[in-house]
Amino acid sequence: MATRVPISLVCTECGTRGYKSSRKPEAPGPLELKKFCVTCARHTLHREAR
Ligand SMILES: [Zn+2]
Repeated sequence: MATRVPISLVCTECGTRGYKSSRKPEAPGPLELKKFCVTCARHTLHREAR
């Protein structure tokens, strides 16, 4: 089983840190996901932050 690294997801538009997730350490580049941001009140791109 692969080790998963815990990360936080930050809205790229307002900077709100709204989600916690995890990623596989071998994944290339920063993780980016479309998530619902409560501050923006819509779906925005969220990026991992450590
Ligand atoms: Zn936002």
